[in-house]
Amino acid sequence: MIVAIDGPAGAGKSTAARLLADRLGFSYLDTGAMYRALTWLALENGVVLEDEEALASLARTHPVSFEDGHVEIAGRDVTLEIREARIDHAVSAVARHQVVRQIMRERQQQLAHAGDAVLEGRDIGTAVCPDADVKVYLIADPDERARRRGGQRPEARLDETLTDLRLRDELDAVQMQQAPDARLVDTTHLDVEDVVALLVAMVEERGRG
Ligand code: C5P
Repeated sequence: MIVAIDGPAGAGKSTAARLLADRLGFSYLDTGAMYRALTWLALENGVVLEDEEALASLARTHPVSFEDGHVEIAGRDVTLEIREARIDHAVSAVARHQVVRQIMRERQQQLAHAGDAVLEGRDIGTAVCPDADVKVYLIADPDERARRRGGQRPEARLDETLTDLRLRDELDAVQMQQAPDARLVDTTHLDVEDVVALLVAMVEERGRG
């Protein structure tokens, strides 16, 4: 079974997706981490972020892998570095290239179809796994999203975090689409356990169906 969880940054996707996968014994794929890892490698190699072919070549040569919750690319463990603000600021410029997206999607499909999986991202329900068994699109009020992000980055100011999130939403808007058959869930007033309980119920319902 494939569970697709999409939505903007800070809507609570990662925490809910990880907990859900744990609870169900499914594998978990953070597709955002893949774009982040490629961005890290591009910056490391001084690749111009407008250069689609150079980025595509990096993506083809260096597939991202996940080992025990660690994110690896080109033989480096980049788990922590990909969460830095400089990656937040550059990742959408990498992810907007269609050739890069195609390479990433193929790799994501390979990883997903290795068994039962929870995939989290922006285009899972629409492009990566349009046949996913369960699809949700998580949203939350921008202030709440900024607060959640702020909790992960105590050094950042809330207004700056909010501005960054809004900018990233704009840059990601083309690929960030709710699938017509995805259930829209507003997590603004929900805690993560509520979200997970809802997702578990959707999976069970689908399993019985
Ligand atoms: O989910 P996260 O915020 O870590 O994603 C980082 C970036 O990767 C997004 O802002 C977006 O540009 C890109 N992304 C994407 N498609 C996905 C997942 C992430 O374009 N499926």
